[in-house]
Amino acid sequence: MLRDKCAVVTGSTSGIGLGVAQALAAQGAAVMLNGFGEPSQIEAMRRALSERYDVPVAFHGADLATSDGPSELIAAAHEALGSVDILVNNAGIQHVAPVEDFPIERWNAIIALNLSAVFLGMRAAIPHMRRRGWGRIINIASAHGLVASVHKVAYVAAKHGVLGATKVAALELANSGVTVNAICPGWVLTPLVEAQIAARAEANGTSSLIESEALLSEKQPMLSFTRPDAIGALAQYLCSNDAATMTGAALPIDGGWTAQ
Ligand code: NAD
Repeated sequence: MLRDKCAVVTGSTSGIGLGVAQALAAQGAAVMLNGFGEPSQIEAMRRALSERYDVPVAFHGADLATSDGPSELIAAAHEALGSVDILVNNAGIQHVAPVEDFPIERWNAIIALNLSAVFLGMRAAIPHMRRRGWGRIINIASAHGLVASVHKVAYVAAKHGVLGATKVAALELANSGVTVNAICPGWVLTPLVEAQIAARAEANGTSSLIESEALLSEKQPMLSFTRPDAIGALAQYLCSNDAATMTGAALPIDGGWTAQ
């Protein structure tokens, strides 16, 4: 389905981004990976993905929290793979603290990566997509793009902002062949969430299992985590021709979290 397409997936050395990169490669897309990690592990991941699906896979380690990082990543993808047809803005971080104690440095870091990098990535990729008359932008927002939780002021503000930016870009790109949508996951068991579970277990003197169950039952009527490959399957659908008229949407995949 995506044999002649090139996809940039930010933050794809782990978690949801890796699940999305695998799903797009499985459909034949060439993939530019991005993110942090141990270089030898990233190289092994890059090679495994390329060999498993017989597609070109490149890696660029741009720090997307910098103002030049997103445009450097898009330029590198264009050079390495020949085009940028699909952009999945996925890289994100979290910090948990009450508003009055929230470190300003953490606020700035979360806004830079979770919100500004989405804008900067779209800004750099859109001209390539317009030129080819086809494109798919998928912004990984969150249930926290739709509703709030305590102690996540920067994350919730950034993810609400991502939905706003998604809608604006969708309107501007209507009739260009480029769609722009957001996916709003509930809990997905990735290193980002495992860190929150571990912190709760330490603070409460409990186990990770108990805190996983508590995390789910506080928010999700469905008491199970969404898998990264299920987010990948939704991204595959958004890249398909059947989704050609779906744009500006915020799609929850959240076990009923935001239905309440
Ligand atoms: P993760 O921690 O497993 O992966 C984050 C990825 O981003 C990693 O590849 C990391 O190296 C990369 N990254 C971090 N800082 C970066 C930077 N400055 N520049 C470039 N790359 C950077 O996290 P995840 O849970 O897979 O989250 C991915 C996205 O999904 C995030 O935007 C997150 O907000 C969103 N999300 C996650 C959940 C969940 O439950 N896990 C739920 C809703 C939304």
